[in-house]
Amino acid sequence: MKAKQKLREAVDLLYCRGCAGTEAYSRLLLECFRNADADQARRLQSHMKLHSFTPTTSFFHNRLLQIYAKSGYISDAQDLFERMCHRDVFSWNAMLSAYSKLGSIDDLLALFNQMPTRDTVSYNTIIAGLVGHGSCKMAFDFFTRMQGEGFVPTEHTYVSVLNACSQLLDLRLGRQIHGWITARNLRENLYVWNSLIDMYSRCGELDLARWLFDRMVVRNIVLWNSMIHSYLRNGLPKKCIELFHDMRFSGVKPDLVTVSSVLGAILQIGTTEEADKVFRGIEKRDKVCWTIMIAGYAQNGKEEDALKLFTEMLLDDIRPDGFTISSVVSVCSRLASLDRGKVLHGIAIISGLEGDLLISSALVDMYSKCGDTTDAWIVFKLMPSRNVVSWNSMIVGFAQNGLDEEALALYERMLQEKLKPDNITLVGVLSACSHIGLIECGRRYFHSISELHGMKPTLDHYTCMINLLGRSGYMKEAVDMILGMPEEPNSLIWSTVLFVSALNKDIEHGELAARHLFEIDPLNASPYIMLSNMYAACGRWDGVASLRSLMKDRNIRKIAAYSSIEIDNKVYKFVSDDRTHPQTDIIYNKLNELIKKLQQVGFASDTDFVFHDVSEEEKFESICYHSEKLALSFGLISKPSGAIPIRIMKNIRVCGDCHLFMKLVSRSTQRSIVLRDSNRFHHFDNGQCSCRDYW
Ligand code: ZN
Ligand code: ZN
Repeated sequence: MKAKQKLREAVDLLYCRGCAGTEAYSRLLLECFRNADADQARRLQSHMKLHSFTPTTSFFHNRLLQIYAKSGYISDAQDLFERMCHRDVFSWNAMLSAYSKLGSIDDLLALFNQMPTRDTVSYNTIIAGLVGHGSCKMAFDFFTRMQGEGFVPTEHTYVSVLNACSQLLDLRLGRQIHGWITARNLRENLYVWNSLIDMYSRCGELDLARWLFDRMVVRNIVLWNSMIHSYLRNGLPKKCIELFHDMRFSGVKPDLVTVSSVLGAILQIGTTEEADKVFRGIEKRDKVCWTIMIAGYAQNGKEEDALKLFTEMLLDDIRPDGFTISSVVSVCSRLASLDRGKVLHGIAIISGLEGDLLISSALVDMYSKCGDTTDAWIVFKLMPSRNVVSWNSMIVGFAQNGLDEEALALYERMLQEKLKPDNITLVGVLSACSHIGLIECGRRYFHSISELHGMKPTLDHYTCMINLLGRSGYMKEAVDMILGMPEEPNSLIWSTVLFVSALNKDIEHGELAARHLFEIDPLNASPYIMLSNMYAACGRWDGVASLRSLMKDRNIRKIAAYSSIEIDNKVYKFVSDDRTHPQTDIIYNKLNELIKKLQQVGFASDTDFVFHDVSEEEKFESICYHSEKLALSFGLISKPSGAIPIRIMKNIRVCGDCHLFMKLVSRSTQRSIVLRDSNRFHHFDNGQCSCRDYW
């Protein structure tokens, strides 16, 4: 941060003077390069132009190209490259590296083919670029071609091709490369060694990886981490902890990454107490230790522990940094705890960290996950700089909160600013299209994933498309798409088919999807329940009965549905028919009173949504006391008036009856209700829901 500020001041100073001359310009450019500061580089470029400074060599322009490439300003790099009169191999390499990071494979290959001369760096760049894009086979072709043209592979080449072997799980080729490395005497190069160990461990040869590891001449922290990660990735947390003890015994100081992996390992197999023991056992607990521990809890689903520890840290007079605060903010997003999230926003402001990229992105995410898109937008707009994570938080946030047009408009703006979207961005975009049924738009965006952005559509993207097509009545196209998928469809894909079939009461496709789901995970209750609900909605009671006995035979239990609501910094949980709350009587009275009032205006419980084939009266009883209705009634008692919306979170999808109920209550009480279910947000206002009844 400081270095960047100094650099800016230096450039500011330059602007009060005339031409700075070769030496000063080159020094400042080097600083821009070190800080990947393209903005200052731009200013330097215009300063040179202003004073008609024409560099005699291509050095300046090459340096500028490198800076633009490094900081992702691809169009500036392109512009400059086009205008350069003298391009040497360095210029071409700089442009190549920009494309390898940001461009499509086609651009990358085209540029490489245009190069008048090439060197080892050119080959290394294209190989690394191809591996980064997942085109590993093509990378091998270039590796062969490189040697055919007489270039000797370097450590960088080997690191890339080993990475490709890891991606393809090609152990045979990996071993061959290992042989070459030994022959070339590159064994003592840390990065090469690290990639070798990584390759073997990813290919499942853990013993070989460990053998190599033990024989290393120089072991450093990166390798330790790499080995610890390999154990974790292969589901061997115990080995990971053993290695950690070895490591401390031999006097190597663990760093942030190591300790957080180890804490992650402990939290996977053991308890928070064990992790706590490691933590309390550290003599001098500095900010880093606290942060690791808090982040460890946060990442391992121990949300309340993370928040408690954060409070303890503040009481210990340790100032949190951007990483700590963003970790706890993300905890609040998961808990949908807006009150505590706002307190953290306050702490960030007091600590002078409101402009911190990590914190702001986490805040945008937190506000949108709590259904408060207004505040999310304010934080987003005020951010001094944004990265793809920040854009994603806002785009996905809009889409989840029913502001789908806003999500799409923001995405277009992101493209205009020449930012490269990633998989998450496109999930947000496609889900926005599916909420508002924009078939053509959705198809276009889906094709752009591979054609424009050079990425492979993921299962999530397919899920969005199937949702979009299925909801709009293009069930056949959706099923064709599944059959044409390069990968085996997973349970998420089939549950989506089941869900949209249920919406369309399309029993044929619903049964098809359910059959696949029963095969993938025979003990998961939700497909049984979804299919059964669908049968019930179509009056097919025989189907309901046979599913019920199937569930009984296989001993499948329903997931416990619950809803939670936060009142005065405390989260209250309700299950269906819950009678454990101390104010149970008042809650039920309030709920019955609401139901009666709504019945007078024609509300009749939609008993289609009840699972069992029972009498109407019984059905009515069980549906009236769904957890979200209880939470709502508790919310209305606790906060009888006010402009602040009542916020409820539900762990599964809201049922149709509760959805209608919330709409009517929002009109009759003139209160806004925000309900976050497992799928999306529902903002109920004056009888309407933001999801437009699509969920
Ligand atoms: Zn319900
Ligand atoms: Zn809704």
